[in-house]
Amino acid sequence: RVLVGTKVDESHANWVTAYNMLTGIRVSVSRTNAKVDRPLTDADFEVKQKSTFDIAGNELVPSAKYDFKFKDYAPWVFRHLRALFRLDPADYLISLTGKYILSELGSPGKSGSFFYFSRDYKYIIKTIHHAEHKFLRQILKDYYQHVKENPNTLLSQFYGLHRVKMPYGRKIHFVVMNNLFPPHRDIHQTFDLKGSTVGRDYKEEDLEKNPRATLKDLNWLRRKRHLELGLQKKQLFLAQLQKDVRLLQRLQIMDYSLLVGIHDVQRGNEENLRDKTLRVFNPGGNNTPEDFDPNSVLMRTPSKLENQRKARELRQMIQSEKPVPMGETSSRMPDELEEGHSRPGFIFNQDDGGFRATHEDNAPGDEIYYLGVIDCLTHYGIIKKIEHFWKGLSSDRSQISALPPQEYGERFINFISNVTMSQEEALRVAQEREAA
Ligand code: ATP
Ligand code: CA
Ligand code: CA
Repeated sequence: RVLVGTKVDESHANWVTAYNMLTGIRVSVSRTNAKVDRPLTDADFEVKQKSTFDIAGNELVPSAKYDFKFKDYAPWVFRHLRALFRLDPADYLISLTGKYILSELGSPGKSGSFFYFSRDYKYIIKTIHHAEHKFLRQILKDYYQHVKENPNTLLSQFYGLHRVKMPYGRKIHFVVMNNLFPPHRDIHQTFDLKGSTVGRDYKEEDLEKNPRATLKDLNWLRRKRHLELGLQKKQLFLAQLQKDVRLLQRLQIMDYSLLVGIHDVQRGNEENLRDKTLRVFNPGGNNTPEDFDPNSVLMRTPSKLENQRKARELRQMIQSEKPVPMGETSSRMPDELEEGHSRPGFIFNQDDGGFRATHEDNAPGDEIYYLGVIDCLTHYGIIKKIEHFWKGLSSDRSQISALPPQEYGERFINFISNVTMSQEEALRVAQEREAA
């Protein structure tokens, strides 16, 4: 297995960047968490808190010669958001910064954003474009209000908005958000659905070499798939989706998708971490298992000894299917210990962290869905207008993906509503069609 000689410089650059991201989060989030809670004010939404760090991650006076600078945006708002999403403050910091290990996914989408997982896979760091960053700050109050009124929102859960800058370096903006997929369950199939058919096809023949690729709308339709929810769950799900999409329409957002991760209960967790790693490693689906490179796991390890120890733990983690808490010896945890991942009080996480397929008589189905609306920071701005213009010349207008937000939302809701039905209902619909 070739581990050396590939992109050392680049991965080194990312190593430093990731280290700086995590150090900044550790210092700034601890600083905010250390204070006594208080209600938010309007000014909290505008705050930018600057810090300056030396190479060891120590905070410096702002004018000193620095190794990197860090900005924390609206720290009190995000503290309150994390509380609304019921994250434990200590847990959050430990997951993200406790041992400085992240897996890097590289850049799965077309946007060039980078994705990193926290070592326990609970959180995702996504680097975002400056325009997305500015836009999130602009809509933060609406987003916050929406989360407050909709604790079960399906929208991406934002936990922090930050920026790092190295001397002479680029400014890198990033968000911390929820990983929709559970660390403890294999996801057997993933779909990214927009309700559009143009360009929304993952080449079926590529599935062989990449069985865990993220599939799209046309793959979904080809499989005659449904979100098999019985009446009650269907109603809960669509009602929340409607509310979320109304917000996105009002804020002139588009290009978002419903991410659907499917755990097949019959198959369970039989597959090894190689598959699991594939899933988490490149959700965009352009990687093969061979692309998983332990070197791409970023570690802050100043000493060689520590490096070796962590590498050992990492290997254990990779071999044992589940992230091993640092310092513990690895043995695969029995399944019953892995339970308890449902998030009490959150409707769409009630069944082992997800939402279980259900028959019309309320009997549980064979699948658990992990659902959420992702990539919701694209404002229908000038670029999309241009794209719309060009694509609109050649395609059926309602099928192109860069529609104005109102139409985009309608099409999105329509598509998802049409494919949300119990097995029984799907069967009836198919029979009626045949009869007609
Ligand atoms: P593009 O703009 O080209 O669509 P992007 O860089 O904005 O790409 P996203 O669409 O946000 O990227 O995400 C790309 C893929 O990463 C998704 O299809 C999904 O597989 C995975 N992903 C993104 N967000 C999450 C999340 N919160 N939980 C789990 N997986 C995610
Ligand atoms: Ca996307
Ligand atoms: Ca995007």
